[in-house]
Amino acid sequence: MSKISIIVSCYNEEKALPLFYEEVEKNIKEFKNTEFEYIFVNDGSQDKTLEVIKKLRKKDKKIKYLSFSRNFGKESAMYAGLEHTTGNYVTFMDADLQDPPSLLKEMYEIVTKEEYDAVGTRRVTRKGEPIIRSFFARMFYKLINKISKVQIVDGARDFILMSKPVADALLSLKEYNRFSKGLFNFVGFKVKWIEFENVERIAGETKWSFWKLFRYAIEGITAFSTAPLVFSSFIGLFFCLISFLLILVIIIKTLIMGDPTSGWPSLVCIIFMVSGIQLFSLGIIGKYLSTTYLEVKKRPIYIIKEKDI
Ligand code: UDP
Ligand code: MG
Repeated sequence: MSKISIIVSCYNEEKALPLFYEEVEKNIKEFKNTEFEYIFVNDGSQDKTLEVIKKLRKKDKKIKYLSFSRNFGKESAMYAGLEHTTGNYVTFMDADLQDPPSLLKEMYEIVTKEEYDAVGTRRVTRKGEPIIRSFFARMFYKLINKISKVQIVDGARDFILMSKPVADALLSLKEYNRFSKGLFNFVGFKVKWIEFENVERIAGETKWSFWKLFRYAIEGITAFSTAPLVFSSFIGLFFCLISFLLILVIIIKTLIMGDPTSGWPSLVCIIFMVSGIQLFSLGIIGKYLSTTYLEVKKRPIYIIKEKDI
């Protein structure tokens, strides 16, 4: 008999959680000969999320939970959940029902009956999302797919049903700066993507501000590409070439026309621009260095305060 583990990371989801549970329960009734377990990971919520989880746990023994000592972020919660699963299939779901539980059945059929190791879901529309956010999300996917070896499907969700070997492979990647969409692509395996229309959050509000998403995107780029470093070297080289040419021009001009002191404003502009580029490049190097610094420290990805597994 197979068992599916559903990992749900929750950060201030007191309103959405009961609705989520009810909806998933409705959908998993149709499964025959399949066990389920929920692993709720309370990611340092400030509201009553943990109480809600405990209440659910009292009436349903399929529910297990972990509770972090503070907010560690969704990526850490996903990793923690993964470490505590016992099923031979594993999936991640958001607590806000933006990952439709109605797809579970189809995903399960594919992963058990067809030659796939995992089934992923992707949103084909982003309706209901702020336009600016969709625009930058699209740009991000285009950029990262160009500058890194991993290919990330546009609109891919973390709602992926995977077999044990895939889950184990993800667990074997113990990096501190986690970018799951990239890690999932990195481990390989045969994946089928199914599509669905964007669903809006059922209750509560989004935890991802524009800046948080922006930082996450930078995290993704530094984790999976070194192109920015190459880019800054190229700019450096380009400016060297230009300055050589300019030196030649100036020498020749001085020899022919004497040496009138002019070009002070343009000189200042050039100094400003070049030092700007230097600082920008230093920033890029700094980002990689700080990422390495955090990895080298080997801090734990999460800290558990309380659990019932
Ligand atoms: N989440 C989390 N830790 C965080 C932020 C979010 O565990 O620091 C969870 C959140 O509870 C939800 C999922 O990650 O289950 C997705 O978050 P959200 O719906 O706010 O993101 P959006 O769908 O707006 O991108
Ligand atoms: Mg959401």
